[in-house]
Amino acid sequence: MQFGEFELISLCDAYFHLDGGAMFGVVAKPLWERRMPADARNRITLATRPLVVRGHGRTIIIDAGIGDKMDPKNTDIYGIQRARALDESLAEYGIGIDEVDVVLASHLHFDHAGGFTKHCGDGRLCPRFPRAEYVIRRGEWDDATHPHERNRASYLAENHLPLHDAGVVRFMEGDGDVMPGVRAVRTGGHTKHHTIIHIESRGRTAVFAADLIPTIAHVDVPWIMAYDLYPMDTLEFKRRFVHEAIEREYLVFFEHDPKVAAGIIREKAGRPFVEAVEVKAK
Ligand SMILES: [Zn+2]
Repeated sequence: MQFGEFELISLCDAYFHLDGGAMFGVVAKPLWERRMPADARNRITLATRPLVVRGHGRTIIIDAGIGDKMDPKNTDIYGIQRARALDESLAEYGIGIDEVDVVLASHLHFDHAGGFTKHCGDGRLCPRFPRAEYVIRRGEWDDATHPHERNRASYLAENHLPLHDAGVVRFMEGDGDVMPGVRAVRTGGHTKHHTIIHIESRGRTAVFAADLIPTIAHVDVPWIMAYDLYPMDTLEFKRRFVHEAIEREYLVFFEHDPKVAAGIIREKAGRPFVEAVEVKAK
């Protein structure tokens, strides 16, 4: 879709499945399963939706999905279903993987960074986007490379260490512009350095919300994932963000929603809800 001076392309890398209880934290199952029904293993279906931002002669991709390095056991545990490789999805929009200039990470969990690297023969791992620099927050990098018992399962070294070995990582310190109109904003909460991306053009704002609001079912402020390391930080940031998004009619991209890639947050009788926006149309 055209968004001011930018073209925004929402991709779907794959569908996967996570425990419904873990996805909704303290919210009881009778409430969340009305929004997202669980399968026999209590899992709900989620998508991974990287966002391509094109403008000013540059192509950025924000996150890159789970990727294709998972072994059969984990492919089953996470119920990964992929119609086509990310490279093919990009090609459908006429974008070659060598045309991507910047890969921007919201954070380094495997469902966001898995597609950053790929097998390239002889057991080696290489950056998927051969010409790109990978912009990663320094604090997130430090956490991913020094995992503890609580986050170890989410940080897989194969997704980020090969980037450093290839010399393609650019560390980002604070908030700021990745390019004019594209701004990284730290939310904390999900991970200490979890980041969302604001895209601003001609008075309008689109936001890649990453795991701050992973699906439209998470738009209620206290509906926070049990995966979040600092849920009270999520709560504080999200309360302000949802208010701001309603006021300013942000176009919000929901990275994990199985059906709704983007929408506008509105309010009815004091409760927020999402009005879906068709993003496939040009
Ligand atoms: Zn995620």
